[in-house]
Amino acid sequence: MRVGAHVSVAGGVDNAVERQLDVGGNCGQIFTHSPQVWQDPNIGDEEAASFRDGTATHLDGPWVIHSSYLVNLCTPKDDLRAKSIDSMQKEVDAAAKLGVEYVNVHLGAHTGAGVDGGLDNAASALDELDVPDGVTVLIESDAGSGTKLGGDFEHLNEVLSRSEQDLDVCLDTAHAFAAGYDLSTREGVEGAVEEFDDMVGLEHLRCVHLNDSKHECGTNKDEHAHIGEGLIGEEGMDALINHSDLEDVPLVLETPNEDGKGFAENIARVKEIRENGDC
Ligand SMILES: [Zn+2]
Ligand SMILES: [Zn+2]
Repeated sequence: MRVGAHVSVAGGVDNAVERQLDVGGNCGQIFTHSPQVWQDPNIGDEEAASFRDGTATHLDGPWVIHSSYLVNLCTPKDDLRAKSIDSMQKEVDAAAKLGVEYVNVHLGAHTGAGVDGGLDNAASALDELDVPDGVTVLIESDAGSGTKLGGDFEHLNEVLSRSEQDLDVCLDTAHAFAAGYDLSTREGVEGAVEEFDDMVGLEHLRCVHLNDSKHECGTNKDEHAHIGEGLIGEEGMDALINHSDLEDVPLVLETPNEDGKGFAENIARVKEIRENGDC
């Protein structure tokens, strides 16, 4: 199975490979810079080569670059839109340099433009990108707080349909749960996967951010919990990890580092749930 974690690039992007191995992952995700500020990826040729070699030698992949949290593709504000497009262009270029297949982005908040206007803004912003060969932008499902879009699977489908880019999707289980998809039971998981397939199409699902949730279904609150220990819980996690339609999809964890547990323990838990399942 392909499972890994969001790991740090501190000290050089190539360090992410060893960090991934240390936690038992074979695929994963990185930020190319601090996601809380506008910053350009600054990746030297040597560390890029070392990252590519390390990945080819030690990992199965894929890697995902998670774009900055400041990016807002839905925004009606011209300056924020321009900065968002510029930032995304630099991320897809960094992905090409690193041989990373995916750049993941949240649609952002429409802040008054309305759902329809926000989805249009996102699609047209994505159309401005010159995405290099071998790189695909993934739209991540959102928890849907405030005017943020992407909580509803229909929003994801709308952006895929309205944009001329070849986009795919990353489903974050904690976000989907917060957005109202009850993933805490086997029936709930079945229903959500079916709805995703009807609405978006499973062929567009390139990555799952596998996270448990600290908040109830439908609260739109985004806080991740250890696998099986949040409100999605053991039954939901077992149903997700062993769902026949999801077995080949890379699982990337963004679980917390707290209570003496981090990625290594959570990845081990995911592997154990898969081994004990009937997938
Ligand atoms: Zn995200
Ligand atoms: Zn996520």
